[in-house]
Amino acid sequence: KEVVAFQHVSKVFNNETVALKDFDLSIKEGEFLSFLGPSGCGKSTALRMVAGLGEATKGSVKVFDGSPKEIIKETNDLAFVFQDANLLPWRTVLDNVLLPLELRGGNKKKHKQEAIRVLEMVGLKEYLKSYPRQLSGGMKMRVSIARALAAKPKMLLMDEPFGALDEITRQTLQMELLDIWQKENMTILFVTHNVYEAVFLSTRIAVMSASPGRLSSLIDVKLPFPRR
Ligand code: ADP
Ligand code: ADP
Repeated sequence: KEVVAFQHVSKVFNNETVALKDFDLSIKEGEFLSFLGPSGCGKSTALRMVAGLGEATKGSVKVFDGSPKEIIKETNDLAFVFQDANLLPWRTVLDNVLLPLELRGGNKKKHKQEAIRVLEMVGLKEYLKSYPRQLSGGMKMRVSIARALAAKPKMLLMDEPFGALDEITRQTLQMELLDIWQKENMTILFVTHNVYEAVFLSTRIAVMSASPGRLSSLIDVKLPFPRR
C-alpha cells in the first residue's frame, strides 16, 4: 500500500533557490526509507513537505492519499523528530512526552500509561522525573523519539536525528530505532548524509543529487538476515 507519493515535485525558494526538481517517489507502508545525499540537495525540504511544512511550487505530495496539512490537522498519523531534541527544559521527561497528548485532549490516565509505555521502550523508565538538563544527548534524543511515538503515529519522519551524537551513542540509537520500527510496525522516513547510517537502517534509499534536488537512484537494501 502506498503511503507517500511525490509526483513531479519542484520546490523553489524565493524564486531563485531550487531545492527539488521534478522529484518523483512512491513510498510503501512499512518501509524504512532514507533520503541520502550531500548537504543542500533538498532532503529536509522533501521530508518537511510530507509533514505539510511547505507547499510544492509544482507537482503534488500526497500522504495516506490526502494532503499533508489535513493529515497533520486531523489525525495523529504523522510524527516528526528533528536533529535537536527540542525538549521543554522546565518540564520533566514524563511531562515532555505527555505534552502532545495533553494538547489533543482526552483521558489523562490513559495518556500517562501510554507515555510510560513509550519511555520504557526507549529505556528511560528510571528517568520519568528527571529534567532535560540532567540527561545526555542520547537520552534527550530518546525522550524526543518517545514523545513522537506516544500518539501512536503510523509514520515517523526523522531529520538527521542522530547527527549531533557521538559515534557510539549513534550506533546504539540506530539499533534501538530498528527495534522500535519492528515492534511498532511503522513506516519511517529518515534524512541523513551518512552512507553507513542509510545502509544500516533502511529497506530503501532515495539517493539525491545536489544538481539540484533530483532523485539520482533508488536502492533496495537487502540484508542477509531478516529484519522483521
Ligand atoms: P538538505 O536537507 O539536503 O541539506 P535542504 O532541503 O535543507 O537540503 O535545502 C535545499 C536547498 O534549499 C538549499 O539550497 C537550502 O539553502 C535551500 N532552502 C531550504 N530551506 C529554505 C528556506 N526556508 N528558504 C530559502 N532557501 C531554503
Ligand atoms: P538541515 O540541517 O536539516 O538540512 P538546515 O539547518 O539547512 O536544515 O535548515 C534549518 C531551517 O532553516 C529549515 O527550516 C530550513 O527551511 C531553513 N533554511 C535552510 N536553508 C535556508 C536558506 N538558505 N534561507 C532561509 N532558510 C533556510
